[in-house]
Amino acid sequence: MSEHFDFFVIGAGSGGVRASRLAAATGAKVAIAEELRVGGTCVLRGCVPKKLLVIGSHFANDFEDARAYGWDLGGEPSLDWPRLIAAKNKELDRLHQIYLGILDRNKVTLVNGRATVTGPKSVSAGGKTITADTILVATGGWPSLPQIPGIEHAITSNEALELPSLPKRIAIIGSGYIAVEFAGIFASMGASVTQIFRAGKVLRGFDEDVRSHLQDEMGKRGVTLLAGRQVTSIAKRADGGLELTLDDGSAVACDQVLYATGRAPNTRGLGLEQAGVELTANGAIRVDAYSQTSVPSIHAIGDVTDRMALTPVAIGEAHCLVDTLFNGRKRAMSYENVPSAVFSQPTVGTVGLSEQAAAEKYGALDIYVTRFKSLRDTLTGRDEKTLMKLVVKRDDQKVVGAHMVGPEAGEIIQGIAIAVAMGATKQDFDRTVGIHPTAAEEFVTMREKRPT
Ligand code: NDP
Repeated sequence: MSEHFDFFVIGAGSGGVRASRLAAATGAKVAIAEELRVGGTCVLRGCVPKKLLVIGSHFANDFEDARAYGWDLGGEPSLDWPRLIAAKNKELDRLHQIYLGILDRNKVTLVNGRATVTGPKSVSAGGKTITADTILVATGGWPSLPQIPGIEHAITSNEALELPSLPKRIAIIGSGYIAVEFAGIFASMGASVTQIFRAGKVLRGFDEDVRSHLQDEMGKRGVTLLAGRQVTSIAKRADGGLELTLDDGSAVACDQVLYATGRAPNTRGLGLEQAGVELTANGAIRVDAYSQTSVPSIHAIGDVTDRMALTPVAIGEAHCLVDTLFNGRKRAMSYENVPSAVFSQPTVGTVGLSEQAAAEKYGALDIYVTRFKSLRDTLTGRDEKTLMKLVVKRDDQKVVGAHMVGPEAGEIIQGIAIAVAMGATKQDFDRTVGIHPTAAEEFVTMREKRPT
């Protein structure tokens, strides 16, 4: 007899673990299968280790700035990269244990190994056939690389977090979240970074002022940005180095090449098509607003559905799904006003619409933009500017977009996101008292509209 569960989850990342524990808390009999370590991309190969490296890399600037504030450091600070990686890995081990504890305490059965869907209500996992009333696929995504000659010499963000030593020269391909984040990490750590990307500016889809500002600031911090170019081949040289050939005929020499050219949904070999689950053209699972696939008993959440590849969104989708399936409350995730931060250096924080998207949706807008030097840099003399921008709908004065490029942009935009989600107007921002002296106060003191 095959074992039966109320809810069988495939993939123990942020979305899968949250859905399984919430479902189990309702009294459902729940199992979760994971072929790698419990924790998933965000905890083990993405957000968390990346942010630790971002934090680690910031010390380089801090040591320099400390001198301007009267500190004498006594010698040149130096980075012990293997020690940083070991400390980061120790923290990941701790988090992995916490995730195991969450499953255990909530009486979720963990199946180590790959699970495949064998029918609308059956899976094969750990050598056993298991039946379930509902199956949830939360298998996430995986780096996707273009198939050019020599691509086998490239690494992805997975390996970049595990390098045995800091590369002297690294080329980073792409200009999305991951590319700009790693460019910042490696440049601050002291590597020579060349970022190569096909668009004219970094961060396609973001507000144009944000894109230009970040690109300028990254350049000031020493990243060589080669826009409008593509790598056509990668060759290994006799001295162990790599040589990239670009489509304009030029070449770039480096020790590592990191591809950050997007992530593909993990659907291959899961048995989904055979079970009748429809996929989109790029291999993502097609779902409705309630995360239900074309097979009513099979659901999917998170990056594998390619809706909005952000951890808090996957977690939100998990909550909505469990409410819908187990709590008698049908709930769909809202994708409006989802704030996000890009942990580039400087950081980008954003909520709502870019000026371009808002103009398309609403027509007439009032735009407020400010660029300023932070108080900290008045002593350090750093040539760095912070950008803040509000996109306001002219007819009812609602703030429909808030954008920032500068230190702590993620921390600041999180608070602003509450106001934007509540429908705050520019006048609500104006009558909020600033906290002085902070950078954040600029969001409530911008008075001059950009001329239209
Ligand atoms: P993105 O989709 O953000 O960016 C992909 C980049 O690769 C773009 O610059 C794109 O160029 C380029 N690209 C794609 N295909 C090719 C190709 N064949 N040749 C050359 N360039 C190519 O993907 P990422 O990998 O950076 O990140 C994946 C997702 O993970 C993000 O979209 C985000 O949702 C999530 N993420 C979120 C983070 C956060 O919240 N801080 C951090 C990291 C990831 P073009 O612009 O021209 O299309």
